[in-house]
Amino acid sequence: MQQLIIIGGGPAGISASIYASRKKMDFLLLTREVGGQVIKAGEIENYLGYAMVDGIAFVEKMIEQMRKLDVEPVLDEVINVERTVDGFGVKTISGKYYEAKTILFCTGAEHRRLNVPGEKEYTGRGVSYCYTCDAPFFKDVDVVVIGGGNSGFEAAQQLTNYASQVYLVEISDKFVADEVLKEKVLSSRKVKPMLRHRILEIRGDVKGVKEVLLEDLEKRRIYSIQVEGVFVEIGLKPNSELAKDLGVLTTQREEIIIDCNNRTSEKGVYAAGDCTNIFAKQIITAAGEGAKALLSIYHDLTYGISSWI
Ligand SMILES: Cc1cc2nc3c(=O)[nH]c(=O)nc-3n(C[C@H](O)[C@H](O)[C@H](O)COP(=O)(O)OP(=O)(O)OC[C@H]3O[C@@H](n4cnc5c(N)ncnc54)[C@H](O)[C@@H]3O)c2cc1C
Repeated sequence: MQQLIIIGGGPAGISASIYASRKKMDFLLLTREVGGQVIKAGEIENYLGYAMVDGIAFVEKMIEQMRKLDVEPVLDEVINVERTVDGFGVKTISGKYYEAKTILFCTGAEHRRLNVPGEKEYTGRGVSYCYTCDAPFFKDVDVVVIGGGNSGFEAAQQLTNYASQVYLVEISDKFVADEVLKEKVLSSRKVKPMLRHRILEIRGDVKGVKEVLLEDLEKRRIYSIQVEGVFVEIGLKPNSELAKDLGVLTTQREEIIIDCNNRTSEKGVYAAGDCTNIFAKQIITAAGEGAKALLSIYHDLTYGISSWI
């Protein structure tokens, strides 16, 4: 029986593991992979102490720090967490079973899917959820970005460095990105804004995506555009299913609800980072929340739990 099992090895989980190791706690860090979304982040320019750092290099730094403190993440996927008499039981996809007194969810978030025909089939063959990783593969071809928020505009901006034309599709009647970013992107000759449009289907052949079927919601017209790349930027979905199965309360957006000490609605269950209802979902906040959660767990295990949300 461990004192703690941390699920998820992005910045929140890694930060928590570093604090747990320094507190000499008996704990496990279970994660599908180390680094989380940072692996795909590309250049990071807003982490304290680094004017600019590449996502992969940043993850390597985190691994180096974990090694120094003898933190060895267990690479596995958690498929179930259940209450036991004195704590929690955790099952993984590889068939392992672990027990702990407390659980810390640092499971992060994943991109929302369009759920249209062709999306699954062409993922990795034209359909992308990571413009930072994939934009350079779309040199001199036409692409479409779906989503008119900051991420969609950032994707469009980056793609103008490579693609011939960038269609920017938004289902509602306005774009909601920051003004400066909007001005910059919409002034590019390469960008074709398309408000009130909905993607119906992604079509292609053995080589990959060839066209996208769209509905113009204003003119009530269905037509297709020829593109080789589809960048989906319609928001993030928190990985909160395991917590929900334990009875933990979530918001309408499925974010785990926490108090300012990272406690959830269920005794002994804590959460930190992008899987929670914190407003700012960033590397620096995830790292800070992971540290705060760990100190909160350490406090509660040492002195008992004083209050609960
Ligand atoms: C393209 C891109 C660019 C970004 N750029 C920046 C930037 O420049 N600056 C910035 O501050 N932020 C940026 N972000 C956001 C930042 O990466 C996230 O806010 C941060 O990584 C959140 O950390 P986290 O630890 O909460 O979750 P995540 O990084 O999502 O990590 C969660 C981890 O949990 C694991 N996991 C989930 N479920 C399970 C399970 N059942 N079993 C085991 N493991 C599980 C996942 O595999 C993952 O390793 C960017 C994100 C993306 C996608």
